[in-house]
Amino acid sequence: MRPEVLNPLFADVTALKGVGPRLAALVQKAAGPRVVNVLFTRPHALIDRSSRPKIADAAPGAIATMEVRVDKHHPAPVKRAPYKVICSDETGFITLVFFHARADYLARALPEGSTRIISGRVEEYGGARQMTHPDHIVDPAENGALALFEPVYPLTAGLPASVMRKAVQGALSRTPRLDEWQDAAWLEKNGFPSFNDALERLHTPQSSADLSPSAPALLRLAYDELLSNQLALALIRRSRKKSAGRPFKARGALKAKALQALPFTLTRAQDAALKEIEADLAAEDRMVRLIQGDVGSGKTVVAFLSATLVIEAGAQTALLAPTEILARQHLETLAPIAEKSGVAVEVLTGRDKGAARTEKLARLKAGEINLLIGTHALIQEDVAFKDLGLVIIDEQHRFGVQQRAALTAKGWRADLLVMTATPIPRTLALTAYGDMDASAIREKPPGRKPVDTRAIPVERIDEVIGAVSRVIKRGDQVYWVCPLVEESDQLDLTAAEERYRHLHSVFGDKVGLVHGKMPAAEKDAVMERFHKGALSLLIATTVIEVGVNAPNAVVMAIEHAERFGLAQLHQLRGRVGRGDKAASCLLLYKGPLGETAAARLKILRQTQDGFKIAEEDLRLRGAGDLLGAAQSGFPNLLFADYAAHGELLLAARDDAALIVGKDPELKTPRGEALRTLLYLFSRDNAIRLLRAG
Ligand code: ADP
Ligand code: MG
Repeated sequence: MRPEVLNPLFADVTALKGVGPRLAALVQKAAGPRVVNVLFTRPHALIDRSSRPKIADAAPGAIATMEVRVDKHHPAPVKRAPYKVICSDETGFITLVFFHARADYLARALPEGSTRIISGRVEEYGGARQMTHPDHIVDPAENGALALFEPVYPLTAGLPASVMRKAVQGALSRTPRLDEWQDAAWLEKNGFPSFNDALERLHTPQSSADLSPSAPALLRLAYDELLSNQLALALIRRSRKKSAGRPFKARGALKAKALQALPFTLTRAQDAALKEIEADLAAEDRMVRLIQGDVGSGKTVVAFLSATLVIEAGAQTALLAPTEILARQHLETLAPIAEKSGVAVEVLTGRDKGAARTEKLARLKAGEINLLIGTHALIQEDVAFKDLGLVIIDEQHRFGVQQRAALTAKGWRADLLVMTATPIPRTLALTAYGDMDASAIREKPPGRKPVDTRAIPVERIDEVIGAVSRVIKRGDQVYWVCPLVEESDQLDLTAAEERYRHLHSVFGDKVGLVHGKMPAAEKDAVMERFHKGALSLLIATTVIEVGVNAPNAVVMAIEHAERFGLAQLHQLRGRVGRGDKAASCLLLYKGPLGETAAARLKILRQTQDGFKIAEEDLRLRGAGDLLGAAQSGFPNLLFADYAAHGELLLAARDDAALIVGKDPELKTPRGEALRTLLYLFSRDNAIRLLRAG
């Protein structure tokens, strides 16, 4: 149950003064459904009303706040003409201009002969000063009502800034005094204000410094948010661990056979990851582990070796891949090792139908299949294992929590191993995957040549086509990725189709086209033709399947590379250079390059390390962008910033671990206060776990 003290904050926004049903819809659109959402809306800018010039000194175009005498009203002479009010001070005149004015309102707000403080943008019109619709008109007796620095909030069409500002102030005044959940010594050490004072300061900034990510008030709120996030994850992780797994105690005979069957030895990083997994599998607790590693770092092999331990102990393993092609590719990679080590492996996808499928499912049920690789088809209801002990998910971000759970539910206390080829910075991993243990494979198998990466202005496209032509003549293959056109799949497609026609006219039927609008089966068919070598040049929008292997693909050309994100470019580059042939990545760009785009292309030329690239990406873009499109499962942070608050995040993680260690049920006074914190930041799902025991 949510603590009652929070009720005023969890009321509908209509509870706020001045927010009727019509405005409520707009406030909800801009901020969220409840008062707390309004309270947690962060101002993104300030209007500085501290400039107090005389009329003659007011600079046109600037915001000015001036004390003036109201001289004369000139109501609109004809409809649609503006209503004007002439004001003055000892230095000159200024005309206040109102369109669609309500005369009675203006008569009350600006009585002739009175003195008023006006604030707004000064304009020059026909050599005279004027101000259209002043933002503020106040009686000097109420001067205090006019803030020197006015916070600016994100709005939505039709929502006046003044309404939003008032709503925020209303939310602020409804905020109860809450018991402190942070450690007193920590607050003191950092010079952080209380929660209430921090919010007050956030919404009543005294200078633009108050909006900076390093302002004490913002740091305090950021820390609250990060702690709520880390605490929730720590609680989830703890409850997961408590839900017993099963100890797989394999002697490792099967693993040894498999290792012998491998034509190479494991890298140190692979070995380390495998050891961590082995320990997890042998433990009573359930394994929930993530392996991060660039494409080609050898995750699949590690996954297979992990499976051998479970299989030796008599249980089965499922390997879920996001696409048909990837599933088949895994089978291709693993079948030879599986055969040599005596592991029965099968693949199940949407293509399996009828009697063959029925027969496969029967063998699965009978335990005759040790390792089943497949797509979403694995999740179908009639797929039953004899004893599923390990679930492995490849490209985990392509699957939802439910899909993961649905597959795991086919087993009994099944362990879970998830893999991703999209390395993310440590800080992000803590937030996104804080509920899992993580292994990173940062090292590549030996002998991999770096992909020769070059940035080439698009004006030199003919040279690139010449190079492509030489590569194709040699019998090698080329990917050609077409530009991403913002917010328009249609334009994306047109660009790709145009390039296809163009290159088709040069290279003929060796050219294929694949794009996101194609039916999945058609897409798969084209990819497969490329994979088999029937196509030499594949034109694609960014849909090229993650991880698809074409050993003879040696060139990745990317048009308008300046429009892609760093991580995305790195992912695309990872499609080539998987065999032993020298590979190159040609980044065609349209100049002049902006600073960030130039930095991105430079980093890409300098390093092939996905982890390093991810860190740089975060630095260049900020987390918002980084997370937006490509990833899911990252909490949207209101106050904290992954790039600016990395240190705070680490502190929050340690703090959360300490709290869960000392007060796992959140029963101490601080624990009670922390429950309130979890509710405030909508992390209360973790509290339900507490009650479940
Ligand atoms: P990932 O799943 O991380 O993309 P894979 O497991 O598919 O990578 O490995 C990519 C390729 O590298 C495969 O052909 C695999 O056989 C090979 N490979 C994996 N580990 C090693 C290693 N230690 N030494 C040499 N080659 C390796
Ligand atoms: Mg893989």
